[in-house]
Amino acid sequence: MEFKNTLEFAQSLDAKDNLKSYRDEFFFPKIKGKEVIYFTGNSLGLQPKRTKAFVDEVMKDWGELAVEGHFYAEKPWWDYHERLAKPLAKVVGALPEEVSVMNTLTVNLHLLMVSFYNPTKTRFKILCEEKAFPSDQYMFQSQVRFHGLDPDETIVELKKRDGENHWRTEDILETIEELGDELALVLIGGVNYYNGQVMDMKAITKTGKAVGANVGWDLAHAVGNVELKLHDWDADFASWCSYKYMNSGPGNASGIFVNKRHLNKKDIQRFEGWWGTKKETRFLMKPEFEPMENADAWQISNVPVLSVAPYLASLTMFEEVGMAKLIEKRNLIVSYLEFILHEIDKEVDSSFEIITPKDRGCQLSVFLHGQGKSLFNYLMENGVVTDWREPNVIRLAPAPFYCSYEDMYRFGQILKSGVLAN
Ligand SMILES: *Cc1c(COP(=O)(O)O)cnc(C)c1O
Repeated sequence: MEFKNTLEFAQSLDAKDNLKSYRDEFFFPKIKGKEVIYFTGNSLGLQPKRTKAFVDEVMKDWGELAVEGHFYAEKPWWDYHERLAKPLAKVVGALPEEVSVMNTLTVNLHLLMVSFYNPTKTRFKILCEEKAFPSDQYMFQSQVRFHGLDPDETIVELKKRDGENHWRTEDILETIEELGDELALVLIGGVNYYNGQVMDMKAITKTGKAVGANVGWDLAHAVGNVELKLHDWDADFASWCSYKYMNSGPGNASGIFVNKRHLNKKDIQRFEGWWGTKKETRFLMKPEFEPMENADAWQISNVPVLSVAPYLASLTMFEEVGMAKLIEKRNLIVSYLEFILHEIDKEVDSSFEIITPKDRGCQLSVFLHGQGKSLFNYLMENGVVTDWREPNVIRLAPAPFYCSYEDMYRFGQILKSGVLAN
């Protein structure tokens, strides 16, 4: 398609957008009385208007039924989370029994590492990407120390080549093969939070499994954004948060995937609690733990219903639309944004550099060479919500559920006046 940097052209794309009605399903913050152009759905998704009803229902049941709500609420609380497994399994390419919802992301990765990082004298190394999201780095270091090992000798970070801004799959696969039978665990972000790169999850999982390592994925920036086939790729485990592209609200419940191969194992290492034991006999309060036959075996506490309810609301939207349509719009809107950036770059004779490689999802990370934080402040003051990473990278993620092509055009105009004003 031949793009044009005009309002008419952007509006013509919106007119043809079959997700356009979903924009009205979200609340937009306002700056100076105008709805913002929201590029930070990769950090905190907008609030769907339908979410409140899901939360209100729980509040009402709590008020009217109190403890009886566990069994007699509109959606009984004791198995509330089970409603999420099926729609969520579609989003991540899993079987419903491989998916559960609980806790928060870093907590879940810690719990999954208990099961899938069992170092021995010879096989103990962990492979992750360099400059992984800080929470993941703290997790790796503390897990390694917990096992009495030295982080410097245990954690291997995948490097980018000098002068390059992305990882090459061939380098990743080569490193896995070199580590070979020393490698205990591969745990990488499926979509990198900084440069927006989508990793070749299929190839990495396959190579990791081939050398005998466990392979897990941190899908914080991948879920609800890119196509996932966790089951077919044969990953061992994965976890993600629900508040980025999945719009379920600040700090809300996280999801986990555990491959079917690992379900119903009696000898697996796991930190256990009463919500992981068989629901049929849970309330007999027996001393023995009998694991649920699905990923719910990793549940520890009873369900935080008020944090899971918004996630269920959000999943109804994913059910209606499906990942294929979201990805189709995502590809077009991100390409249009890329085009706009190049056009504005030419017009103002600046030097924007998109550091996101072609393997990308919703996010473009842009190096604003020669520009300072004042440009970012100008964008914010003029209704463009984006985020800034040192030294001078802005991350732009036009979430297909609620961003419009007109937003992209308007952003270009604001960016242009911001560069000229600086
Ligand atoms: C957002 C994000 C997190 C956040 O972790 P929480 O435990 O939900 O606070 C972790 N890892 C990655 C890669 C992220 O992008």
